[in-house]
Amino acid sequence: MSKRMKDKVVIVTGGSKGIGRSISEIFAKEGAKVLVTARNEKEAKDVVESIANTGGEASYFLADVSKQDDMENMAKTCIERYGKIDILCHNAGIFPETRLEDMTLKEWDLLMDVNLKGTFLATKACMPHMIENKYGKIVITSSITGNKTGIAGLAHYAATKGGVNGFIINAAVELAKYNINVNGVAPGNILTEGMKSQLGDEYIKAQSEAIPMGRMGSPENIAYAALFLASDEAEYITGQTIIVDGGQILPESQFAAK
Ligand code: NAP
Repeated sequence: MSKRMKDKVVIVTGGSKGIGRSISEIFAKEGAKVLVTARNEKEAKDVVESIANTGGEASYFLADVSKQDDMENMAKTCIERYGKIDILCHNAGIFPETRLEDMTLKEWDLLMDVNLKGTFLATKACMPHMIENKYGKIVITSSITGNKTGIAGLAHYAATKGGVNGFIINAAVELAKYNINVNGVAPGNILTEGMKSQLGDEYIKAQSEAIPMGRMGSPENIAYAALFLASDEAEYITGQTIIVDGGQILPESQFAAK
């Protein structure tokens, strides 16, 4: 094992389940010290124990990404426990389905708060330390939805992820002079707990059929892209979002994918 992340410290928001859990585990396997954050303790504790059982180093911090105090305390806790923040993998996000006809302002605002405001607050909380250290890698989990594709029922989600890509470009421009890279990974359809509970079996079957590779991706497929973007091998890449989708955005129609 190469231990590409030896001596690095990473915060993974939404690090307790799905894509975030995989990011936490793979960074730990590569030698990073990982601060796993999420709102619920059970899963966060479970991922930390699983990392410890395989010889890695991790701890958890309970935080809601839509709350400024939580994000500031998360960054503070990371510095207290591990002395620094080298990498922020900001991955927490939600994708509840609601058609525009039924969408309430409350539902719209929730998505803005968690997915978009959360991106700003997590970045804002970790930035000062990275600026002081003249080193930082920020990798944000975006989506093909809202940037390359659309899905009925996810207009609010699409708006947040389109906003996330805009944020990545602009933050990259501002932070480059401090040796901070800001990039994103845009997953296609990845089989996670959130996918199963929020979108369901019918969605999973239909989407799988539209993907040229014929299957949904795994959380590891996204985690390895995040690992690359957070590595020093990617030092000259900033403001980019890598699509990891099994070719989903390529065909002109479902017919073209057959
Ligand atoms: P998931 O299985 O539902 O996991 C979501 C993670 O985020 C959990 O750790 C959850 O923990 C945490 N989280 C949710 N709301 C939070 C909040 N307000 N504050 C802090 N943590 C919060 O989801 P996933 O499928 O892995 O998705 C992860 C990311 O990938 C999201 O940004 C999503 O938009 C993006 N994405 C996923 C797919 C896909 O196909 N799965 C496709 C494109 C993009 P708690 O509930 O304990 O807080």
